[in-house]
Amino acid sequence: MSDKKLLMRKDIPREMTWDLDVMYKNTAGWEKDFARIPELLEKFLAFKGRLSESPSVLKQAIEADDAMERLAEKVYVYAHLRSDEDTGNSKNRSKVDRASALFAEISGKTAWFDPEIMDIPADKMEDFLQSEELSFYARSLRELLRERPHTLSEKEERILGMSSDVMSTPSKTFSMLNNADLSFPEIKNEQGTEVELTHGNYIKFLESSKREVRKAAFEAMYDTYNNFRNTFSSTLDGTVKRHILSSKLRSHKSALSSALFGDNIPEEVYRNLIQAVHDKLPALHKYMQLRCDALKLEKMDMYDIFCPLVPECKVEVSWGEAVNWVREALKPMGKEYCDTLEKAFSQRWVDVLECRGKRSGAYSSGCYDSYPYLLLNFHGTLNDVFTLAHELGHSMHSYCSHQAQEYHYADYRIFVAEVASTTNEQLLHHYLMENTDDKKLKAYLLCHLLDELRGTIYRQTQFAEFELWMHEQSEQGIPLTPDVLCEKYFELNKLYYGDAVNADQRIEMEWARIPHFYYNFYVYKYATGISAAVELSQNILSGNSKKIEDYFGFLKAGDSKDVLDIMKDAGVDLSTPKPVHDALDLFDKTVDQLRELLEI
Ligand SMILES: [Zn+2]
Repeated sequence: MSDKKLLMRKDIPREMTWDLDVMYKNTAGWEKDFARIPELLEKFLAFKGRLSESPSVLKQAIEADDAMERLAEKVYVYAHLRSDEDTGNSKNRSKVDRASALFAEISGKTAWFDPEIMDIPADKMEDFLQSEELSFYARSLRELLRERPHTLSEKEERILGMSSDVMSTPSKTFSMLNNADLSFPEIKNEQGTEVELTHGNYIKFLESSKREVRKAAFEAMYDTYNNFRNTFSSTLDGTVKRHILSSKLRSHKSALSSALFGDNIPEEVYRNLIQAVHDKLPALHKYMQLRCDALKLEKMDMYDIFCPLVPECKVEVSWGEAVNWVREALKPMGKEYCDTLEKAFSQRWVDVLECRGKRSGAYSSGCYDSYPYLLLNFHGTLNDVFTLAHELGHSMHSYCSHQAQEYHYADYRIFVAEVASTTNEQLLHHYLMENTDDKKLKAYLLCHLLDELRGTIYRQTQFAEFELWMHEQSEQGIPLTPDVLCEKYFELNKLYYGDAVNADQRIEMEWARIPHFYYNFYVYKYATGISAAVELSQNILSGNSKKIEDYFGFLKAGDSKDVLDIMKDAGVDLSTPKPVHDALDLFDKTVDQLRELLEI
């Protein structure tokens, strides 16, 4: 949409906007709460040095901490939602800045809290944990105490804290080079015009139906990275070494086990994922062969992987239709879910349309004392309907957890964060497939599903495997030189994509442009999350009421249990390869369905 045609916010019908007034009627209300936070902070700080006095004192301290954080979150969430309505509005922007500064102050002034709890002698702490007063908080206290063997003396922690900024230099350098300093050459676009390649337009070029455009973008991208191969390997090497150093200083067995420690995930879950994906690589090879045939190529190359086999069907979906489709698609979850879902529309959780200055993209955001709002930029494409289902999944997950749990345990962890959203996408896919005879639409939907599973399970596991290999090499003292990184990356790429792909050697540089390699074993969660979602959506569609009830258990669990237990109780055992196998069997079946539909 061109900038000229953009609506002004004031011209958008009220029912298409989110209702933030229920949080604060006016700025004065927000200012009043903002001013209360320093008072709550002072109340909390009065407990410093007193935590070991009695269970009751410790309980009061935790409650004072929660009360302050709860209000601070509300103040921050309102500011950021308002600001996203019109990012050009400096008054709203300044509210976000003030709230962020307040958060920074709070975290500085409350840093003593966890260490002081951990300093309570073990015997005494055990008595505390058995006490009536602390029974509700026992889980979160035990979670904190798990860290005790990996926590250093106060002096050592201070040194680590002081050096953390300097230790993050390799990742900052990566980010500066990658986002600010690196520039790419011009390439010819589909119209034959020379345009500068950027991170932003790269994927658009790779999706081009003209092969020479895809090829030119791919070559220009990786030739540029190759010019900086030494710098990129050095920033990555520095980051890997930082993870390893931290794991050693904190007496973890390895960088992997240190990274998984927070969510209490055993290493086998990570290793099983890689093995389970290896077991099903033939399905990916089969998909590559199908792409090769559909695109009528002798051999596929890595730059042929992203272009859509079936261009998006030009269906125009009105907002009303989109809502109805999603409603219908989610019906198998039962009445309780559907009734709650209606609140999203009747209470105006959703900001639907794009307008001048509004933040781009889509998200679900909120806090304990707000609706779980959704920001969309709805233009009526099929993809937009999937986005609606996805973001509603997040919002419904937040809503159910907030309703079922006290504030203290209300927020779910990142590990399960994408499960509800992708479960909804699966259900929408199923509904649309069942309710159309349009072959083109069906083919589009099958491709959509295949590319999602390829991108989330195969690709992220390939990254996860590379990440593990880098850390293990480095733990053995083997330097991560550009040659070593390229050789391994190319080998892995070949293993994953198989013989139908004749990979241009340039793909060996892909490691250099993946920011996630700086996140410390993060990407595997994408793969486990969507595998869980596939299994859960199949459970829901089976109509078995016990299984649907178990799914609700997951939506309502918040942080009240370990993530693996939450998933297990919901019907997905991520400590076994089954969920990953099942999801990739679905992938396999979908490849066959698509081949049949495309008649090749
Ligand atoms: Zn999401």
